[in-house]
Amino acid sequence: MSNFLLAANPRGGEGFRFRAANEEEVTAAAGRLRGAQAEWAVLSAGERMALLERWCLALRDRREEIVAALANDTGRRLLSEAEIDGALRRIDHWGRKAPELLAERSAGVSESVASVRFEHRAVPLGLVGVVSPWNFPLLLMLIDAVPALAAGCAVLCKPSEHTPRFVEPLMDAVRTVPEVAAVFDCVRGGPDTGSAVVDAVDAVCFTGSVATGRLVGARAGERLVPAFLELGGKDPLVVLADADIETAAATALRGSVVATGQACQSIERVYVHEAIYEAFVERLVAAASAATLNMERIDRGHLGPFIDPRQADRVEAQLADAVARGATLHCGGPRRRNGGVWCAPVVLTDVHHGMLLYREETFGPIVPVIAFANDDEAVRLANDSDFGLSAAVLGKAEHAVRVAGRLRAGAVSINDAGLTAQVGDVEKDSFGVSGVGRSRMGASGLLRFLRRQALLVQTAPPAPLDAFREVPR
Ligand code: NAD
Repeated sequence: MSNFLLAANPRGGEGFRFRAANEEEVTAAAGRLRGAQAEWAVLSAGERMALLERWCLALRDRREEIVAALANDTGRRLLSEAEIDGALRRIDHWGRKAPELLAERSAGVSESVASVRFEHRAVPLGLVGVVSPWNFPLLLMLIDAVPALAAGCAVLCKPSEHTPRFVEPLMDAVRTVPEVAAVFDCVRGGPDTGSAVVDAVDAVCFTGSVATGRLVGARAGERLVPAFLELGGKDPLVVLADADIETAAATALRGSVVATGQACQSIERVYVHEAIYEAFVERLVAAASAATLNMERIDRGHLGPFIDPRQADRVEAQLADAVARGATLHCGGPRRRNGGVWCAPVVLTDVHHGMLLYREETFGPIVPVIAFANDDEAVRLANDSDFGLSAAVLGKAEHAVRVAGRLRAGAVSINDAGLTAQVGDVEKDSFGVSGVGRSRMGASGLLRFLRRQALLVQTAPPAPLDAFREVPR
């Protein structure tokens, strides 16, 4: 399966050709990392974090190179800077948190058997495989890799085949700290390489689509290794009658179109109280029409291109289906240039849940709006989805919190949208088909990479077999 792949340039022009790692190479990398993991795990958390901090410094030195590679692959500059800065902050965060979390020891006397003393130990899972998507290529790889390393695991990453360039400067930085290079590696390639990684590791962190998540989960199930699956979303935004209309329209737009809608926590469905619906739609359309594309220059405009050109086909198919079924398109739509595809924010009304764009993830800057009559209806509409990644509610604080608590989603932003993109220290599990496994945020983000081992010390004479002999009563 040794072959070359071509990552398209989303702004058009020349793509990037690279060789995909084959199964033998993946197995060899896994063997090497697994061999070094035990030595890494016996270091104290402080020692491991000091080495990861040295890696962090080397990454800082290569910030511009990494930003350039990400900008090439994603067609956007500001978010590429945000990615590397966010990743560096995550390393700092675990540098502070990991020693404290890993120092926690519990020991005592068992309540069930008073003669038994116990001690809990935390044992790293071993070699963790990280398979990640193209929408935030660096961040969504390191978000799992860094806490896994901090926990004492070795890590083998397989980033998306659509965004492979950043791997070189990243690995240059890794090689400056040999202790980290011994337990961290990246292999590049597509689905075959990803599936070889899933077959070679002791636990899998997968971020990507529901369809691939099902395959990865099934394979991990066959191998009986843990799988943490972070999958798609169809996030609703509920705008209550007591929300400020101007702010609500601006927040709905930003929450739906930032990163060209290519974010798992993008707002993809907007529900607005009927009393403010018309005024809200008017403001939303005005704001959406004023958003600009970075078609001419990467450093101008609000929205970049679609990173994976196939994404444009999916969005266009959903739009065509909605319009064919009676949707009104107020503004926006795809624009092509030099082989790249951009999309000006689209506002749709006269939409309903029978349309494709309500059943499938969109991953594009599309804002469909539906009116509701009361809180019960808003909650019913927002919960009418197989997904349950996150959600948002805008309105007077107490009212919004009440409605938020009724939503079936892992995190609900109140009086903002997509807060999980910024807040990393709170726990958040996925609901529905949006994911499986403990939260990647908060303390669980690290603790999920540890198995709990109990050491049980009997202080009384052990029971003889006679204690289990049946005797007549
Ligand atoms: P994808 O499922 O197509 O691919 C994700 C990764 O899996 C890629 O690296 C790919 O090469 C690899 N892969 C493909 N087939 C595989 C297989 N059989 N075995 C192992 N690996 C395989 O997803 P994508 O299109 O790259 O990313 C977009 C998706 O990611 C969207 O659905 C989005 O919602 C989701 N996402 C989720 C989160 C989250 O935190 N929940 C964050 C970002 C993106």
